[in-house]
Amino acid sequence: MVLILNSGSSSIKYKLFHTNTNKIIFSSIIENVQEFHQAFKDIFDRLIQMKYIDKISDIQAFGHRVVHGGEKFNKPVIINQNVIDEIKNLIPLAPLHNPANLDGILTVFKLVPDAIQVAVFDTAFHQSIPKEAYIYPISYKFYEKYGIRKYGFHGTSHHYIAKQTAKHLNKPLNSLNLITIHLGNGDSITAIKNGISIDTSMGFTPLEGLMMGTRCGDIDPEIVLYLENTIGIDPKEVDNILNKQSGLKGICDKNDLRDIIKDAKNKDEKAILAIDMFCYRIKKYIGSYKEILGDIDAIVFTGGIGENSPLIREKTITNIDKIKNNNIKNSGEIQNDKSPYKILVIPTDEELEIAIQTKKLL
Ligand code: ADP
Repeated sequence: MVLILNSGSSSIKYKLFHTNTNKIIFSSIIENVQEFHQAFKDIFDRLIQMKYIDKISDIQAFGHRVVHGGEKFNKPVIINQNVIDEIKNLIPLAPLHNPANLDGILTVFKLVPDAIQVAVFDTAFHQSIPKEAYIYPISYKFYEKYGIRKYGFHGTSHHYIAKQTAKHLNKPLNSLNLITIHLGNGDSITAIKNGISIDTSMGFTPLEGLMMGTRCGDIDPEIVLYLENTIGIDPKEVDNILNKQSGLKGICDKNDLRDIIKDAKNKDEKAILAIDMFCYRIKKYIGSYKEILGDIDAIVFTGGIGENSPLIREKTITNIDKIKNNNIKNSGEIQNDKSPYKILVIPTDEELEIAIQTKKLL
């Protein structure tokens, strides 16, 4: 069995997978975590009480989601002291996530000193992006001195979706050009050429790119300075505005798309505008990624919105078969006969991908 852990600042999500079958055995979340040591003890006690395991050593490996792997990690790794030091060094780049991810790893080592632990990084799949795409057009020294560049996130999901697409098309992944669109609370889109990521919409942080539930995505950077210097809003509050009060929420006060769609049906103007903006911005990225990729084999939708909202899919892409789009169950093709490429819906499963990667390293 492998235990997959997603340790956040106040919650720990965990899923236990069967090693041979990749079938999920148990999944849960601990919220309002005060103290990691106790929380992990509770997780282990629960798995034993529920008889999923007899003892902790029944767990062959622990797979951790780690948000930032910087330029050091382009694939999952077995965690040793060097890896711990690197994750620590990357804390300035992911101050909200890497400390909690690291706490999870260190706590498991304290409780299970000889545990095999694997780190799977959100950024790793995007390390193949070429320099012309990952360097920002600001002074080059900011890259050299401070590591300011595009890293990209959601990599585990885009990689998983790409592999599932290859399976569906029955072709090797390294022969495929794809555009993968992950739409959830966070949203990102990736251009995949011959199976590897060559550009993605999230950047130095997960704030860049598409309009999201509460994040603004691409805006003129001068707006940030204007809010701070001319309007006089404190930089911390600007951070909060751009990450938590913008995107869909900034336009119509709501960030759950299901509610927004209901309001739009009742002719709420702000809800209609929010949906139009959300889809328009996805379209702009699809257009540019088509040009970057040349011929494409498939455009793939995933994430809570991508998997469940025919409306958003229909409004972002031409050549959709409306009947297929409205009736799709779980996964499948939704393009019409005119489409030069497949248009697919495939559910993502980041934890399963972490379990697969963890098992690979055993
Ligand atoms: P996260 O990024 O936190 O993992 P999800 O991938 O679960 O989030 O996506 C959450 C989003 O998916 C929410 O905006 C939610 O409204 C949207 N969503 C879920 N089901 C539907 C649906 N049937 N129609 C439209 N939107 C949906």
